[in-house]
Amino acid sequence: MNPSDEEKLLQSTALQNANSVFLARQRAEQELIRTKEVLQARTDELVASLARMEETLQERDRARSDADEARRIAQEANEAKGRFLRMISHELRTPLGAIGGYAALIEEGIHGPLTDKQRESVARIRHNQQHLLGLVNELLDLARIESGRVSLNLERLLFQSVIESVRHMIEPQIAAKSQHLDVQSDDPDLVVRADRERVEQIVLNLLSNAVKFTGQGGTITISTTHSGDKVYLHVQDTGIGIPADKLEAVFESFVQIEPALSHTRGSGLGLAISRQLARAMHGDLTVESVLGTGSTFTLCLPRATDSTALT
Ligand code: ADP
Repeated sequence: MNPSDEEKLLQSTALQNANSVFLARQRAEQELIRTKEVLQARTDELVASLARMEETLQERDRARSDADEARRIAQEANEAKGRFLRMISHELRTPLGAIGGYAALIEEGIHGPLTDKQRESVARIRHNQQHLLGLVNELLDLARIESGRVSLNLERLLFQSVIESVRHMIEPQIAAKSQHLDVQSDDPDLVVRADRERVEQIVLNLLSNAVKFTGQGGTITISTTHSGDKVYLHVQDTGIGIPADKLEAVFESFVQIEPALSHTRGSGLGLAISRQLARAMHGDLTVESVLGTGSTFTLCLPRATDSTALT
């Protein structure tokens, strides 16, 4: 090979090398552009999802402050309802007391002797006055309990003694319907920690209902059981029962299941008050029932553990 051929060959090899370097660089540059595009797309996606996240956080904050506002309004409305109930109950009690007082004076014959018809009418006035007064007192009680104003005197109580005192109160109503009262206790020495007056109020309410919603000659059973640190009082009747889908509703204020069926008057407040009182004493009030067969209400109270004196 002569020198000029050798030179040409070298030149051509150099040219090829330069060409492939150029191509490689071009490929690298294209690769770089593609990578930049991918990166840009990822960055855009990231920015968009950050914006969405920011929006979600703002929405959550808005929802939280809306909920706070709704809670504040509901609380204010509840307090206003409580104030109204307390005010109206106090206002109603005074004239109702006067009606009862004057009716009693007339009944005693202070304005002269009464005919049988007049005596009957006065008795009706007294009966209705008592009913209204009871209703107003229940309203006042509910308002006090709901606003947390009820004061409880929690003490050690012999459960049996509560049952005995309520039993005496209910016996005339039981006798009036020729019903039977059965009292069973698994341990007569059970001691609970509760407010005597309030426990009596609850048990009396359960027994009055049992009598009211059980027909002539039916049976009402009071029994006590205990388990761990809880004591249970069951009031069972053989009455009309409560439909399964109404078992919780009976504990709501002003709820009466088919009042026409019961042929009785009531406010629908007794069980609402009783459950709230039971819970305020760290217990509960529940019910089981079979429609047409009967109901069992169960009052649960904490068993007394300390050794302070019994009342
Ligand atoms: P009231 O007895 O004044 O209507 P309560 O709150 O004590 O109010 O009871 C609410 C409702 O629950 C009653 O109207 C009645 O429908 C139902 N209920 C309560 N106790 C019994 C029971 N022992 N048997 C059947 N239904 C009952």
